[in-house]
Amino acid sequence: MKTLEQVRAQLKAYPIEIDFPDISPWKDGNTGVDYVHSIDSGIAGPHVMIMALMHGNEVSGAITVDRLLKAGLTPRQGRITLGFANVAAYQRFDASNPDAGRYVDEDMNRVWSADRLDSTQDSTELRRARALRPIIDTVDYMLDLHSMHEVAPPLLLSGPLDKGIRFAAAVGAPEHVIIDAGHANGKRMRDYAAFGDPASSKNALLIETGQHFSSRSKDVAMDSACRFLMATGVLQSDDLRSFMLPEAPTLQRFFQVTDAVVADSYDFEFADDYRGMEIIAKAGSLIAHDKEAKIVTPYDNCVIIMPSLRHLGPGVTVMRLARLVDAARGAQA
Ligand SMILES: [Zn+2]
Repeated sequence: MKTLEQVRAQLKAYPIEIDFPDISPWKDGNTGVDYVHSIDSGIAGPHVMIMALMHGNEVSGAITVDRLLKAGLTPRQGRITLGFANVAAYQRFDASNPDAGRYVDEDMNRVWSADRLDSTQDSTELRRARALRPIIDTVDYMLDLHSMHEVAPPLLLSGPLDKGIRFAAAVGAPEHVIIDAGHANGKRMRDYAAFGDPASSKNALLIETGQHFSSRSKDVAMDSACRFLMATGVLQSDDLRSFMLPEAPTLQRFFQVTDAVVADSYDFEFADDYRGMEIIAKAGSLIAHDKEAKIVTPYDNCVIIMPSLRHLGPGVTVMRLARLVDAARGAQA
């Protein structure tokens, strides 16, 4: 049986095109929680938050939040909170083993359920999530900035609810919106508490901006942060234009995730060199092996979403499968 180290050794290493910002000056915030800063307009409006570093090696979000903090933007209404989540993992980042920088003890984006947070269990990530939780409980609109293991088009993850799909359409970029229910092995912050309650007006989006260490990824992260701040009404385009991508966004397309492909062993292998967003025309096409098991597409025109073996292990989601849904759904939902 292969080990995770052997799997990773066979994967492509990506160049680190960006500098990792020193975020230590942001430790002392004004919220009572380290690495969380809040700017209140004093005018009634929503509390919006942009979170970076839910995964410690996803540096494009850290660059974005660092730049927004340095810019010192004052909201026109409501309150803007900017935070860095898994600082402990970020500070341990080692360029010779970049995939290991995702977390210290456990994946911080799988702990966001009351039963984990209220439990007596302990980990570096649970401690940090518990510290952040009182702030997150007051947030009306959240953008959680992530990046991807592999080079792939950016994805906006709306969650499964119509309110999330509408919010993704209001943000308006990037092109690909993924309608998904998260992971079987733990809840994401995007789905936490009121964010995942269809009866609540609170709302959250997660963006995957591109490969962790690409220069383009940091530009996409900044552009989507600006579009989020505009969509929530706390800032206007005149405040943010200099931070945004020059090109107009492409018309969005919406993809409904139907299946999570979860590895059963370290011997899982894809049938092809998938990068994400490939469309497999015929149902029954072989897309992966897991020991003796063959994994095939369940329907025609099946779309491959975020394939990666970087964190391979039994129980780990290694790809998701989706259908293209009516592009107008976002506007109608
Ligand atoms: Zn992530």
